[in-house]
Amino acid sequence: MGQLDGRTALVTGGSRGIGAAVATRLAHDGANVAITYASARDRADAVVATLGNAIAIRAEASDSADLRAAVAETVETFGGLDILVNNAGIAVWGPFEETSDDDVDRLLAVHARAAFVLAKAASPHLPTGGRIITIGSSLAERVPVPGWAAYSMSKAALVGLTKGLARDLGPRGITVNLVHPGSTDTEMNPADGPDAAGERAFTALDRYCDPEDVAAMVAHLAGPGGHNITGAAFLVDAGAVA
Ligand code: NDP
Repeated sequence: MGQLDGRTALVTGGSRGIGAAVATRLAHDGANVAITYASARDRADAVVATLGNAIAIRAEASDSADLRAAVAETVETFGGLDILVNNAGIAVWGPFEETSDDDVDRLLAVHARAAFVLAKAASPHLPTGGRIITIGSSLAERVPVPGWAAYSMSKAALVGLTKGLARDLGPRGITVNLVHPGSTDTEMNPADGPDAAGERAFTALDRYCDPEDVAAMVAHLAGPGGHNITGAAFLVDAGAVA
């Protein structure tokens, strides 16, 4: 028997990387899983095919109507929603002076506004014991190199959102938490990429995280062991912020 048997999770950005690992772990723990993707339908379908009771939904994270529809489809398909994982994300970086207003708006929309909109859409469906878990970034805590101001701002916004929602939803027995990955081996940030050696050097353990490391923290927060944890942020970063 899995610790999430009978529960339903919605994981945004589940077609690859950390989101796919989270979806896989939650399904392994017994949950029905809906994943969203932006454009990679084939890859989302391939993830779903490995999970059992799962569906894939196209939902652009900067489009609030898409996000609300994803919640509605999840509830309609599985009869409820217990766990929301806000994971979909983009990496936009470069010289501060060259970061456009559009870049800033897109980062804030995909990372911060989407998490707010999804929490609001999911809230009426979440039961006592419900969970909202958002994927932030260690760059919300420490920015060791130039070029990441806008991205870091969009992830730091999630700290306030998490604390505020923990207060809003705590009276209903719903927990709200944030997981901050450090450098994690995905297409966004491959462990053999051009910047990887420098990123690894910032860590205490001299290594990248795997997506499964982040998924393990999400699974703990989603499961019964997370019932008294809320309004908190957890680094899974091989000690990059130490
Ligand atoms: P990937 O680039 O590997 O995967 C991104 C996922 O998000 C894909 O499923 C993608 O869908 C989806 N996505 C991207 N843009 C949008 C959008 N506009 N609307 C809807 N879905 C979208 O990234 P990671 O797995 O590495 O990152 C996952 C999360 O972890 C992100 O929030 C990222 O900021 C964060 N993070 C990652 C770190 C790392 O080192 N990898 C470090 C710290 C934080 P599709 O396949 O259709 O494009």
